[in-house]
Amino acid sequence: MPELPEAEVVARQIRARLLGARLRDLWIGRADIVREGLLTSSWYQGAVLQSVQRFGKSVALGLVNENACRYVVAELGMTGLLLFQSVPTKYPQHVHVRLSFEGASEPELRYWNPRRFGRLSLLDKTGLERYLARRFGVDPLLVSKEDFVRILRERRGRLKPLLMHQQIIAGIGNIYANELLFRAGLHPNMQVSQLSVRKVERLYEIMCEVLQEAILEGGSSVRDFFAPDGTEGRYKRRHLVYGKEGQPCPNRCGESIRRLQGERSSYLCSRCQSLRPMG
Ligand SMILES: [Zn+2]
Repeated sequence: MPELPEAEVVARQIRARLLGARLRDLWIGRADIVREGLLTSSWYQGAVLQSVQRFGKSVALGLVNENACRYVVAELGMTGLLLFQSVPTKYPQHVHVRLSFEGASEPELRYWNPRRFGRLSLLDKTGLERYLARRFGVDPLLVSKEDFVRILRERRGRLKPLLMHQQIIAGIGNIYANELLFRAGLHPNMQVSQLSVRKVERLYEIMCEVLQEAILEGGSSVRDFFAPDGTEGRYKRRHLVYGKEGQPCPNRCGESIRRLQGERSSYLCSRCQSLRPMG
């Protein structure tokens, strides 16, 4: 948290309010927040915000200055937030970067993250391409059904860790992985090699539906996710299994939702989510 839908909501709000604005100042409160490009920070002063893109759980701000273009890439995965100035921050010591703008309805965008080391990168175009190639797999909202089937079927191992492996499929974290697998009737620990093409195609359709619906609902606010304008996501109300340990299965099969401990908790119905699905 944030995962893909939340990062997409963040990118859309920034695009709507700050696109075309001029960056008056890029303030970096601590050097260790920057993964790459710290020495280029003065370049950004006076540049114009030309694009706002989401990659996986990260947001890239593209700025132009005298025909050159550079990017500020902020990682949101797990704990990061980008907030407008008007939104009060609970722990202001975690605001590590401030971008102040002129010519926009929002005077400042702040990057807040209790995790610090290497969460922000200042990159040129080639640097961004290298960064994306190294860290991000296909985007769930852009990948075709055929490619998704091929990617899953050429892998081995358990299904849920594969869905959350950012270098293979970028953007799905623990919340959406649990929600997708319940809706698809697939056990988080099942072997990917046991999935039929038909099951993978069904999983793809559910993934597209759930992520798009979550974006329209403003994402899920679990453990303090806020959009840049301070609003909370409403998709949490649609969660069927995440955080629902002990509650009856939403399919009314008579079982209760169980929580399996692993590297990340899995929430599932052991009756509806079979370890060895047929067909
Ligand atoms: Zn069930």
